[in-house]
Amino acid sequence: MGVRKIPSLAEAVRSELRTLFGPRVLLSRSEKGVYRYDAILVGPEPLAVVLPESREEVQALVRLARKHGLPLVPRGAGSGLSGGAVPEEGAIVVAFTRMTRLELDPKGRTAWAEPGVTTARISEEARPYGLFYPPDPASWRTSTLGGNLGENAGGPLCFKYGVTGDYVLELEFVDAFGELHHLSRQAYDLPGLLIGSEGTLGLITGVRVRLLPLPRHRATLMAAFPEVGALAQAVSRAIAQGAVPARLEFLDPICVNAVEDYLGMGLPRGHALLLAETDGDDLEVVQEELSLVEETAEGLGAKVQKARDEKEAEALWRARRSVSPALGRIRPKRVNEDIAVPRSHLPQVVQGISALGEAYGLVVAQFGHIGDGNLHPNILFDPKRESEERVWELAHEIARVALRHGGVLSGEHGIGLMKREFMREAVEEGTLEAFRTVKAVLDPQGLLNPGKVLP
Ligand SMILES: Cc1cc2nc3c(=O)[nH]c(=O)nc-3n(C[C@H](O)[C@H](O)[C@H](O)COP(=O)(O)OP(=O)(O)OC[C@H]3O[C@@H](n4cnc5c(N)ncnc54)[C@H](O)[C@@H]3O)c2cc1C
Repeated sequence: MGVRKIPSLAEAVRSELRTLFGPRVLLSRSEKGVYRYDAILVGPEPLAVVLPESREEVQALVRLARKHGLPLVPRGAGSGLSGGAVPEEGAIVVAFTRMTRLELDPKGRTAWAEPGVTTARISEEARPYGLFYPPDPASWRTSTLGGNLGENAGGPLCFKYGVTGDYVLELEFVDAFGELHHLSRQAYDLPGLLIGSEGTLGLITGVRVRLLPLPRHRATLMAAFPEVGALAQAVSRAIAQGAVPARLEFLDPICVNAVEDYLGMGLPRGHALLLAETDGDDLEVVQEELSLVEETAEGLGAKVQKARDEKEAEALWRARRSVSPALGRIRPKRVNEDIAVPRSHLPQVVQGISALGEAYGLVVAQFGHIGDGNLHPNILFDPKRESEERVWELAHEIARVALRHGGVLSGEHGIGLMKREFMREAVEEGTLEAFRTVKAVLDPQGLLNPGKVLP
């Protein structure tokens, strides 16, 4: 009789996982490979990838992970830009892409969504009822509600309408002990604590979000400024005078040139562009608000083009949406920074970042949700010719510019792995200690997305 092979821990876990999840546990190298990445970083191969289909399965998985002391890394679409969904050694990735139930309550103007529902789907399904879901990250066709909640994602509409967290009425999550919680935003606003916690405090299994009536009218303009300083000034002045555009987006001359090379739509090369959209039910008010932006921009030397109809407006917004692919033609790789600074500091911040790029000899293109002071300086590089180490050094210097100007490390992409070590510079030690205490209470074994957010 042969000696019976004692299964290693990994083998025992694998077999338990198979029993619980059948073919929805991925164990082969080829299947697990894609789950090493988000849109910016890559980590080691996970021990396994599990695709739960219900809250009960998530609970069972947490209990299994707890028993074996295995880290769990929640994941939506992996479109994150700070490494939040990137696994560490020996972790199990929990991919929520099969939890896609969506129920609309048009009368109550709410929707109940499982975490794998894509962001755009909510507005698409709400549209026939004259409703929409405002948070609109540019990645909304792929990004999921779970990932949006993990990062408290924003988008162009967030200046007027707010970010993901502003639309959460109820949140359902599984804690690090495998217990299920279904909470509204009352005493001890635990949902508020989970929003933006990047999967480090609980696994979100459902959310009830608020929907808004679709505005009846929209008006859009594009203003071309000879330089960025005047553009930033125009934004501050128009807002101070009472304009509340729904969208206020900015492209620096590098982005404008890149989009023009890509689309050939007649954009004014060498200029900084401001795209503004106002919306509402009263056409007169919508047009008045846009005129406020128009007059302020012209007063600061801009040439303004107003969209005459939806088709023209759509063409202008296409320019903004094409920034990412257009920049990809300048250099094959990029690091997408995400900082937010007080609006009044924008001219110095934009200029300071351009100067840093020049000093490092690297191309830095800047765009973003300028109404909120949220900038995305993108460092473009070719790893064959330019040192990746210097690129990251420059990314950190850019974050320091934001901190020096009273800004924050992340406007909407989160801390994840990318900015974790920077938390020491950005957050008081006492506050970090408070964060660690919260984490230790909710996740004493440190199983939920370990190594993220906290240095
Ligand atoms: C081209 C492009 C444009 C983008 N534009 C924007 C933009 O305009 N605004 C913006 O805010 N972001 C933007 N992003 C970043 C990214 O799309 C957002 O952060 C998005 O919210 C991530 O969603 P995801 O489903 O891909 O999440 P993932 O990247 O998979 O995960 C993000 C974080 O959430 C956690 N998480 C995922 N699911 C759960 C869950 N069920 N429970 C608990 N934690 C969970 C993960 O652990 C991770 O920490 C952009 C990205 C790209 C590539």
